[in-house]
Amino acid sequence: MYKRLLILALHFVLILFILREASSLILVYFLLSPLLILPAFYFYKEAAWFFFGITVLTILGLFVKYAAIDLWPEFLLFGIFQPFLFMMLMFYFGDLRFVLREATVEKEEIRTNLENLKAKFRTRLTSLKHLEQQVGSLMNLFEIARDFSECMDFATLTEFLLKKLGSELAFQRMRIFLALKSEGEGKAGLFKVYDMAVGGVNESERPLNKDEKDDFDLIMKSKSMVRHDRIWYFPIFEGERMGAVFSIEGVKEEDLARVEVLSAYLVLLIKKIKLYETMRELAIIDELTQVFVRQHFMERLEEEVERSVRFKLPLAVLMLDIDHFKRYNDEFGHPVGDVTLKEVADLLKKNLRRVDLVGRYGGEEFVVAMPETKPADACEVAERIRSNIARHDFQVYDDTTKVTVSQGLEFFDAQQLHKNTQAAPKVIAVDLIRRVDEAMYKAKEEGRNRVCLYKDIIKKTS
Ligand code: GH3
Ligand code: MG
Ligand code: MG
Repeated sequence: MYKRLLILALHFVLILFILREASSLILVYFLLSPLLILPAFYFYKEAAWFFFGITVLTILGLFVKYAAIDLWPEFLLFGIFQPFLFMMLMFYFGDLRFVLREATVEKEEIRTNLENLKAKFRTRLTSLKHLEQQVGSLMNLFEIARDFSECMDFATLTEFLLKKLGSELAFQRMRIFLALKSEGEGKAGLFKVYDMAVGGVNESERPLNKDEKDDFDLIMKSKSMVRHDRIWYFPIFEGERMGAVFSIEGVKEEDLARVEVLSAYLVLLIKKIKLYETMRELAIIDELTQVFVRQHFMERLEEEVERSVRFKLPLAVLMLDIDHFKRYNDEFGHPVGDVTLKEVADLLKKNLRRVDLVGRYGGEEFVVAMPETKPADACEVAERIRSNIARHDFQVYDDTTKVTVSQGLEFFDAQQLHKNTQAAPKVIAVDLIRRVDEAMYKAKEEGRNRVCLYKDIIKKTS
């Protein structure tokens, strides 16, 4: 600021000095004035026109003062030349100023762009780090998911999910709902629910509660993943029917992407396990009567024999055959016979406990194993089965009919086993079946619709 004022002051002092002193100095002034005006341009770019004006006025003043005295041609030439010189300078500076202004604008733009780029780079870097973290945790999930595929049943899967996912994902609870088959078993609307929370896995068979029902209605409507409050539902459809639902509750928003990846995998796995269980069921459960097939019954009977031997527990085995079933089929037709066969199996199950094993041994022959059952109790059960079937009204088109069964009964007494032989469970099981078969045929011989004990045949023959 001081510098500027000093130059301005000098400028004016010089002009005044020239005007006052001598006409001989005028030439020097004319020669030097462009040089004088240069610093003025430099420091007062914005007021250049003002200086130009002052200088022109000074020149005109000089002309007025001296031209009258001495009209010197060179002097006039200089007088004309100087404004041109100033004007050129003005244009030059004006241009320079414009270029400078443009350059400053461009510089500003470049600076802003650079700042923007820097900011973008910083954001990219942060998102890259975030992405790295996500990839890391997805890899962990992938590792866990790979281990899931080892699970071939829901009990193992749910235990595994709870144990392994707990450290990888924050959640409150997970559930797997499996719709139970409804036909003939009174299980319509029932679900097998695996509830996974901090306390462990809880397994139950229950209908849906009010909230769940509403949510499931939503799923049925949308036919896809549904979110309600803090619960995410991932359905598994079997055609039009909703076969299963996986739900997860209390997941953080930032984990949702991972949950979606996980559930996509889980949905496939649940499908696989369901299919596997169906296959397993098909292989061990007789489709018509819904009891074990012969092969599976024999395997389970061996296990029961083994348990009886180990813990010295009684075991009762029963064989049941429908009387004159060939005639029944001939009279009413095979389809009616099938329905009757199924009804006999249902009556049989109704008169037994959950722990008892029931198998279809042949066409219309059933076998039953009653663990931890004393002979007297087994006789009572067999008699109850016989009378319940005999009293039952079997539907034949618009009419009803009666059916009777003959049964053979034998007991396994593990207490006496060690005295005689150390036979393998399989041998004992096969022998038990042979004996009940004999007893059953004895019941047929004696007139059908009765229970015959193997020990009675032995007594009679000996
Ligand atoms: P009994 O046992 O009293 O001596 O006479 P039965 O006529 O029942 O004897 P048998 O064992 O000779 O006949 C069994 C009949 O059971 C033959 C077959 O038509 C019928 N049967 C076997 N399996 C099925 C089935 O799955 N459905 C139907 N409807 N009938 C079956
Ligand atoms: Mg028969
Ligand atoms: Mg038979």
